[in-house]
Amino acid sequence: MLVDSHCHLDLLDLPSFPGGLAGVLDAAHDRGVTRFLCVSISLEHFPHMCALVEDCAKVSVSVGLHPNERGGHEPTAAELVELATRPGVVAIGETGLDYFRSEGDLEWQRERFRTHIQAAREAGKPLIVHSRDAAEDTLAILREAGAEEAGGVMHCFTGDWEMARRAMDLNFHISFSGIVTFKSAQELNDVARRMPLERMLVETDCPYLAPVPHRGKPNQPAYVRYVAEHIADLRGESFDQIAAATTHNFLALFNPRESV
Ligand SMILES: [Zn+2]
Ligand SMILES: [Zn+2]
Repeated sequence: MLVDSHCHLDLLDLPSFPGGLAGVLDAAHDRGVTRFLCVSISLEHFPHMCALVEDCAKVSVSVGLHPNERGGHEPTAAELVELATRPGVVAIGETGLDYFRSEGDLEWQRERFRTHIQAAREAGKPLIVHSRDAAEDTLAILREAGAEEAGGVMHCFTGDWEMARRAMDLNFHISFSGIVTFKSAQELNDVARRMPLERMLVETDCPYLAPVPHRGKPNQPAYVRYVAEHIADLRGESFDQIAAATTHNFLALFNPRESV
């Protein structure tokens, strides 16, 4: 069995899938993908996301405000902690820093990130961290804000081995998306080869970043299988080993109430 540790089921073009959301989850089941973490990017949208997956026992959710979201209400740590008490919420995020898609003085992003870290510590839930073109600041804020206490995952990891090692030193897991299957991702392949299995997760980040052989097309949770198969090939290990380890890591980190 396999887990998609980071997906945005609410952002999929569900009418284009036969059977809608149930069809998406059935297709995943057919590929051995039996558990899902649906990740929040907007607090305005959060109730809708929760309602969408409410009846899906194997879908957990997170609560958080993505670093690229602008214009809405800026939550306090206390508000995030309160939202995190909702049944099915297993993590805080996604949060972090994205200097690729934002410009100008980004102190507001760093402040929002610190607020999420504080909320994770208070709620006793792990963090889902998004970091793009911001490795040093991400690690510095994680360290300064005491994120080690909450732990979590560096999702859709694209850094080098040095960043992975430093994140793991801060009690973080490393999650690989379809990017690891891209031909251009040699440095990331190196990280996936060197990673201790007990810190590894896999994800789709769907609807974005479909892995090879579906690159450029809409992504879906079933495709996390390609990510795990690619990593197994890289490491000379079996798919079953990667699936078992990443599933075990997911359950230990996020502790969802329903067991697979
Ligand atoms: Zn992200
Ligand atoms: Zn995401």
